[in-house]
Amino acid sequence: MRNSNEIVIVGDGFSAAIMLIHLLRKGVPAASITLIGSGVIGQGNAYCCSSQSYRLNVREDLLITFSDDPSHFARWAQNHIDDPKAKTEAGNFYRRNDFGHYVSELVTNELGSRQLNHIPTKVTQILRKGDDWILSLDNNNISIAKKLIIATGNAPPIWPCNVSTKLVSPVWLHTHLVENPWAGDYLPEIGADEDIILLGGGLTALDAINALVEQGHLGMIYVISPRKIFPPVQASWQRQREPKWPKKLSPRGLIRFIREYLPSADVASSEWQGAWEELRVNLNTIWQQFSSSQRLILLKRVGWIWSLYRFRASPQTIASYKQLRENNQIHFVLGRAKQIICTEPNIRVLLNNGGEAVGERIINCTGVRVDPLLSNLISSRLVIPDALQQSIAVDGNLRVLDSNQKAWENLWLIGPATMGSLGDVVAASAITKQAEQLAEQLAEQMKMGV
Ligand SMILES: Cc1cc2nc3c(=O)[nH]c(=O)nc-3n(C[C@H](O)[C@H](O)[C@H](O)COP(=O)(O)OP(=O)(O)OC[C@H]3O[C@@H](n4cnc5c(N)ncnc54)[C@H](O)[C@@H]3O)c2cc1C
Repeated sequence: MRNSNEIVIVGDGFSAAIMLIHLLRKGVPAASITLIGSGVIGQGNAYCCSSQSYRLNVREDLLITFSDDPSHFARWAQNHIDDPKAKTEAGNFYRRNDFGHYVSELVTNELGSRQLNHIPTKVTQILRKGDDWILSLDNNNISIAKKLIIATGNAPPIWPCNVSTKLVSPVWLHTHLVENPWAGDYLPEIGADEDIILLGGGLTALDAINALVEQGHLGMIYVISPRKIFPPVQASWQRQREPKWPKKLSPRGLIRFIREYLPSADVASSEWQGAWEELRVNLNTIWQQFSSSQRLILLKRVGWIWSLYRFRASPQTIASYKQLRENNQIHFVLGRAKQIICTEPNIRVLLNNGGEAVGERIINCTGVRVDPLLSNLISSRLVIPDALQQSIAVDGNLRVLDSNQKAWENLWLIGPATMGSLGDVVAASAITKQAEQLAEQLAEQMKMGV
């Protein structure tokens, strides 16, 4: 079956939903939009989780869905969410799935009685024919897009090393090796006395820690990570001033300026975090002025520090980590996984430095991988990779670049995958700005009959 559509959005998470909402708000008819994705619109990988212990890592006023009404979610939360544990000294940190329900409700309300063409499947390949984009779907159908917006978000983690599974039952494997923990559906099966291995030491590992503590875990938790450090707790920071950025900055100059600007206070203090957030306001513009090789240098030299301090954790989550530490229930095993060996009932992880960790269950907390759909597009030479070689390159108007570095007139990318080209576009507020900007462009084009 073939469908021909005016605007197609690929993806069904926050980016796709917020794109749809802003297109509708700009007067683009619902009948001209098709959305392809197999989940509940608005929830995606980030906010479609069953665990009540997975919390937003930012306070409620930072989850902006309308730039002209930044406290929309905060008001909705007050009226719709019953979550006494959300309140902390650093603000309200709600459950992630409650934010997902909010976004889905926004979509439903925005559509009203209008029907959206939602195709509940995945796009497996994108090809070009004439002026159109031809999408192969997982349900064996084909969809044709005159204008195509890719909003496929964060591709779920895969094991970062070889997993040897000889002589183990498939059922045991399925439940004891958790390759993608983002939904949290693996948690109820965990026995309270089990020794758990968390592979990776970022926010996903902290999510698991919070959930395990909340369900009364008594066994050991081994965290495999190159460094013995977790992201800090969110403080009740405020931006107070604007940095006076030097005119021309090299990557080295940027690092120096940031070092000098940050106070010598604790990274968990409001003072330090306020200064850090003041710096972040202009960083995307600065990032876009760097060449590809300069961006790669920055990623190599300070990428891990950036991720550590940029993605801070909710106070509830850090309180759970502290509880485990006090009980001597958590232990860092330094190194990188080289091989995972399963010998029911144990799992051994061999590390690159000769060390090892042994547990009864392993949770893959290694984070986002490369999106197979985008890799496929790069292989077909319709597009080029971004500076970090992790996604596809876009220009400042979110238009995807072709193999001659020229922007396609009818292909856009929004959301976290634009990070290599545009900087830090991961938070809801940044994605909202992208969606508003693109909706404006598209509504204008449609008015002019383009
Ligand atoms: C686990 C997790 C937790 C996060 N928590 C926070 C937080 O607390 N606060 C915050 O500000 N940000 C958070 N983020 C950051 C997040 O990037 C953004 O806030 C935002 O949710 C990204 O939305 P998205 O739609 O681009 O991506 P996603 O949430 O990854 O959704 C993408 C959707 O597209 C679908 N899709 C992918 N490929 C295809 C395809 N080929 N065809 C059709 N559909 C496809 C996926 O199945 C998925 O449903 C989190 C991210 C993750 C991964």
